[in-house]
Amino acid sequence: MLQLKNIKKYYHVGDSITKALDNVSVAFRRQEFVAILGPSGSGKTTMLNVIGGLDQYDSGDLIIDGKSTKSFKDSDWDAYRNNSIGFIFQSYNLINHLSLLDNVEMGMTLSGVPAAEKKQKAKDALVRVGLGPHMNKKINQLSGGQMQRVAIARAIANDPEILLADEPTGALDTETSNEIMQLIQELSKERLVIMVTHNPDLAHEYADRIIEFADGQIQHDSRPHEEHPKA
Ligand code: ADP
Ligand code: ADP
Repeated sequence: MLQLKNIKKYYHVGDSITKALDNVSVAFRRQEFVAILGPSGSGKTTMLNVIGGLDQYDSGDLIIDGKSTKSFKDSDWDAYRNNSIGFIFQSYNLINHLSLLDNVEMGMTLSGVPAAEKKQKAKDALVRVGLGPHMNKKINQLSGGQMQRVAIARAIANDPEILLADEPTGALDTETSNEIMQLIQELSKERLVIMVTHNPDLAHEYADRIIEFADGQIQHDSRPHEEHPKA
């Protein structure tokens, strides 16, 4: 459903060139939980941002549902970002003085979903992540694990086909990290999930597929739980 074809992205700083993505080609299935591992600076976040339509690239093609994005206009990219992609981060990026419900609703500001429907979708998403009874609380009354659940609710409220996660457990203790991973694994049964992590144990325990990056390239791509890997 999603394919990167020979994606190159270079950063020019002064006289030096960093190859953030050095000819990356990879395809993802629907309902796949992919973990991206690799050292700091190897290109993981850049790939996530390219997939999410947040970063432009120098050459290559991003193919969505078999369709090239080469002819995408700004409005097509906006529609893709607002309706097909959900993003979660290590730092939650929530607004502390607002309620859970307001935070999740605000995630749909640019989606074009009518107001009444927005509220219902936000409530449904908060119930889905186990925070139904707390939806009118303020973010600053929550634990870190609960905050990440709110961020996940915000990311899935409009039911995107693709959920992108950049170090979602980076600020959480082991027990809470496992709870969050279980939730993300559950959500991957309905959509493609691609997660950057520095934690190989969590990746191996929960993900279907592990991609290891080094120097802007994919070094290894494996499905550790599958005895007879499909193409
Ligand atoms: P990772 O997520 O694996 O830590 P990144 O994708 O953040 O790696 O970065 C890949 C490479 O691109 C690194 O060398 C990083 O320093 C460089 N880079 C990322 N963003 C920028 C930027 N805005 N300007 C210049 N270099 C950048
Ligand atoms: P991570 O390792 O989690 O990917 P980084 O610290 O590499 O985080 O990058 C954080 C942000 O800083 C990214 O959005 C990236 O675009 C930007 N960045 C990374 N390296 C550089 C750089 N050399 N110059 C400018 N911006 C950079």
